[in-house]
Amino acid sequence: MNNISHIKDCYGCGVCSTICPRNIISIKLNSDGFYAPTIELMDKCTDCGLCLDVCAYSDSDVETNDEKYTLKGFGGWSLDNKIHSKCSSGGIGFEIGRYLIENGYKACGVRYNRELDRAEHYMAQTVEEFIPSIGSKYIPSYTCDGFKEINRKDRFFITGTPCQIDSMRRYIKRLKCENNFVLLDFFCHGVPSMNLWDKYLKFSQAESKGAGVISWRDKKHGWHDSWVVSMYDKHKTSLLEDDTPIFYSRLSKNDLFYKLFLGNACLGKACYDHCKYKLANSSADIRIGDFWGKTYSNNNDGVSSVVVFTEKGESLISELNRNCVFIAHPVEIVAEGQMSKSPRPGKILYNHLNKLLKSKKTLPQIVSSAVWVDRFVHFPQKIIKTLKK
Ligand SMILES: Cc1cc2nc3c(=O)[nH]c(=O)nc-3n(C[C@H](O)[C@H](O)[C@H](O)COP(=O)(O)OP(=O)(O)OC[C@H]3O[C@@H](n4cnc5c(N)ncnc54)[C@H](O)[C@@H]3O)c2cc1C
Ligand code: SF4
Ligand code: SF4
Repeated sequence: MNNISHIKDCYGCGVCSTICPRNIISIKLNSDGFYAPTIELMDKCTDCGLCLDVCAYSDSDVETNDEKYTLKGFGGWSLDNKIHSKCSSGGIGFEIGRYLIENGYKACGVRYNRELDRAEHYMAQTVEEFIPSIGSKYIPSYTCDGFKEINRKDRFFITGTPCQIDSMRRYIKRLKCENNFVLLDFFCHGVPSMNLWDKYLKFSQAESKGAGVISWRDKKHGWHDSWVVSMYDKHKTSLLEDDTPIFYSRLSKNDLFYKLFLGNACLGKACYDHCKYKLANSSADIRIGDFWGKTYSNNNDGVSSVVVFTEKGESLISELNRNCVFIAHPVEIVAEGQMSKSPRPGKILYNHLNKLLKSKKTLPQIVSSAVWVDRFVHFPQKIIKTLKK
């Protein structure tokens, strides 16, 4: 059939559901903890093929943004100290959104919904409403409610993972309204399973049950040591308010969520096998990220990497000069500290962990079991290496 029913383990970007004229595609979490589409009423499908037209997963190429443009790179940060200190790197993502909202755009960012315990795209019409998008949420995001608010007459700023943005570029081309849109993605490590996040919430339940705002980055110990899950009491309503967290766990002190996420142990299958967006491969107007690498290795406040792919992106960056600092760098330097290839999962460890994340075991039990399996898998390789030496 000329629809997405044969597609498995895709990006879960939700753009097929947004475009379907019969409204019969739903996006739900699958048993591995990733969003995936299902056609609910197959007999209502007219085989129009629109869902496949906008599907970035079903095409091996990245949708073009502006082929004639020569990419430009920058390091940048916000001059608003509060924004700079609370955003993941330099706060450039927020500043672009703020500027565009002030100039008549609606902004689609990602917030954490504490009632449903999920990350979700939502549409902000004021700068105040855009504040919950501050900070990366390192879990898959449910896009449908936010994306359903897009129309052909208003102007929109859309943020997301590179795969979400690739499908979005196809969507706005299909609807012939590209001029009304600014698309922003980021250098993307991948997204971990929601089963890991569920286990983490159970593991920290003494604190997480009473928590309101949750954040995934914190610069108290500096930007380079900012891989921190922190949870705040319910009376704090915004990340911008100063407060002491009721839960605080960082990677440098063996945080279990980050250990598995950044150890590439349970990313989406598409992040291992089907990611075509590393380095400067993008459909966006602008790509942001953390400016890792040597250039800012002594900076502790945070610097955003910025790659500009279109004329529209370039004029936007020049208009932002009043609120932000931008320093030009070659694109190779901007992308220096980024992953150049998708990680390869160890099949035995991946399957083992996937099974454990669905079981009743606690997160510490899962991690210690995974460590043993990892040792067992690598033991023969280590012996061979030693013998060779
Ligand atoms: C899953 C994930 C993986 C990432 N991997 C890398 C990486 O490998 N290298 C790197 O340099 N940077 C990566 N980033 C980006 C990085 O964490 C920062 O977002 C970036 O440095 C920009 O920071 P900022 O200070 O401008 O703003 P921030 O305030 O951090 O901006 C965050 C932006 O990301 C959007 N966003 C947040 N969570 C999600 C989500 N779950 N899905 C889609 N969009 C989301 C928000 O709407 C907002 O626009 C990743 C982000 C995510 C969410
Ligand atoms: S082919 Fe058309 S009607 Fe059928 S699921 Fe896809 S978009 Fe909907
Ligand atoms: S790593 Fe690639 S496939 Fe995975 S979420 Fe990021 S852009 Fe999408």
